[in-house]
Amino acid sequence: MWIEIILSAIAIMAVLYILFPWVVKLILRKEFLRLANKSSGVCLTFDDGPDPVFTPKVLDILAKFNARATFFPIGKNVERYPALMKRIIEEGHELGEHGYDHKHPWLTGPYGTWMDVWKGGRQLAAYAKNGAVNLFRPPYGKLNLVSMLYIYRKKKTTVFWNLDPKDYRLSSENMLIPNIQNHITNGTVILFHDGRCNLAKGGRDATLRALAMVLESARNKGLEPVTIKELYLIK
Ligand SMILES: [Zn+2]
Repeated sequence: MWIEIILSAIAIMAVLYILFPWVVKLILRKEFLRLANKSSGVCLTFDDGPDPVFTPKVLDILAKFNARATFFPIGKNVERYPALMKRIIEEGHELGEHGYDHKHPWLTGPYGTWMDVWKGGRQLAAYAKNGAVNLFRPPYGKLNLVSMLYIYRKKKTTVFWNLDPKDYRLSSENMLIPNIQNHITNGTVILFHDGRCNLAKGGRDATLRALAMVLESARNKGLEPVTIKELYLIK
């Protein structure tokens, strides 16, 4: 009897905490991809930075191609590397929130989730040009009830992607996606990472090589690199 009650309570909580936000995420993601497909540009996004070794290299490549990108740094790195954050802003790139400690929403309780998203947002707010940063990319692309409520309460635009080279999994010996340049078309939103590097695996060297290829390919195809806000046509 008690076991049944406990199991039912767990099931109800799981539905409320994970399953319902998962359905909402699917709807938000569908809308994001619909807008992305209408864009005539290519959107470069970088998660989990800034990193003292790789972020400057990413910025150098972007500057060489005169391209602007959208960065989703994690709050604890924002706190640690203010000079890098300043450089990102000064070079005209855009910012979005990505939590403070990159906690997995399905493995984190309500209080831990709220602190992660709230602290992440607070760190980034100092670098926002016109007040609040209104973009939010959920860590691991996943939501729970609390991060979903944060998005609604703070009126954030949820940002996803449609091309994931999985650069977080690879060593520098491997190319991210074979012939990645062939995948670049109008409306591509590519997910790169400039942080959480595994230096033993070559860090982000593969990302840097792929980034140059993507920008070269976009230029050859006449596709403009755009930021997420330009893609969304929001100020
Ligand atoms: Zn991330």
